[in-house]
Amino acid sequence: MTRSKYIMLGGGMVAGYAAKELASHGLGPGELRIISADDTLPYERPPLSKGFLLGKDTEEGILINKPEWYEKQGIDLKLQTIIDEIDLTKKRLHADSGEVFEYETLLIATGARARKLDCPGNDLPNVFYLRSLGDSRKIRERAKNSKQAVVIGGGFIGMEVASVLSQKNIETSLIIREDRVWSRVFTPAMSEFFERYYLSRGVKLLKNESVASLQGKDRLDVSLSSGRKIACDMVVAGVGATAVTDLFAKSGLAIENGIVVNEYLETNQAGIFAAGDVANYVDKIFDKRRRVEHWDNAVSQGQHWAGVIRGERRPFLHVPYFFSDVFDLSYELWGDSQGATQTIARGDLSSSSFSIWWLKQDRLIATFVMNRPDEERQFAPEWTKSRRTISVDRLKDQNRSIQEAI
Ligand code: NAP
Repeated sequence: MTRSKYIMLGGGMVAGYAAKELASHGLGPGELRIISADDTLPYERPPLSKGFLLGKDTEEGILINKPEWYEKQGIDLKLQTIIDEIDLTKKRLHADSGEVFEYETLLIATGARARKLDCPGNDLPNVFYLRSLGDSRKIRERAKNSKQAVVIGGGFIGMEVASVLSQKNIETSLIIREDRVWSRVFTPAMSEFFERYYLSRGVKLLKNESVASLQGKDRLDVSLSSGRKIACDMVVAGVGATAVTDLFAKSGLAIENGIVVNEYLETNQAGIFAAGDVANYVDKIFDKRRRVEHWDNAVSQGQHWAGVIRGERRPFLHVPYFFSDVFDLSYELWGDSQGATQTIARGDLSSSSFSIWWLKQDRLIATFVMNRPDEERQFAPEWTKSRRTISVDRLKDQNRSIQEAI
């Protein structure tokens, strides 16, 4: 049995950034162990559905820290290690290999796993789900010999992967069960903009459709609920993700849509924290609980945890954020638009330069920004975090600088 001051369970982005932050303040040799089921050192996940899938980024280029860095810091990395039992009383993790790891402080960063389609044929060869570097590698490989692809899901993976496959000159059909793309996040006008953009680049969009079954060996037949059939060389499904909490089901840790933590990322058990996709945390800016499955949340919570365990007892006060790149467009979104009472657009929704501002009465709760002046990027998160009142009329006035809206 080996004992560590800190164990990070899960070797994803939380671990990569938390380790970096801990090390920057001094870490003794052997104090930190990272246990990961993955076969690769902690890497950035956004490129898996963007630059890496396109073939622009390399495996080495997306690593958060270089291999020699872990060695230099005295960090013990256990890759391809599956923990199948946790003993909270003895503070031990049991691996399926028989190894036992003891911790003083545990950071749970087990992330989320891709949800599978629930139709016959959901596990056939050439039906792909995207979560890990290994998954992205397989999709990239199959794409080399594909002429036609079907992408399922109108969320992040569906939209990003459809854009990449189409850029590889693969005839791509995007199947969504909603009546518009990104409906959970975008206004109808924004969905319309992106749908037009995708159509103009050759992506076929099938709305209000779902997959009834998948058949075939090499080539696949995708049967849709409407009775329509599409033949293709590969299917990629992006139909959501679920927090990985199975190991803790009977442990006594509070679990509800992920592992429940407070504003310091502490679970209901002393010395155990959770961060990233798996953590259901208290968002003190919006006064609600949330679980966020985006890069920025994993990075910021990993870094925040490193501060908390070093004695900086500050609450995690962070405006939720994500970005996406599709075709030649890059956009960002801060905040949470739920409960908005009005939206204001700046720029021009018929061009690719616009921003959308969601307000709840006279407070800004969310902002989408694409190809806009830097000040919009700067003020959007600041105003949401400070909850200051803003002048709706001045925000609407496109002849005024955004600064004049407060
Ligand atoms: P997602 O963004 O939650 O989107 C899933 C989509 O699939 C939704 O439109 C959902 O519709 C639909 N869906 C669910 N079940 C379905 C089914 N059985 N058949 C057809 N459609 C179905 O999830 P994702 O795109 O799979 O991405 C997984 C996770 O990775 C997400 O948490 C995402 O945030 C993260 N990610 C983030 C980025 C980024 O930040 N740029 C990029 C890639 C991945 P309903 O809304 O009706 O449920």
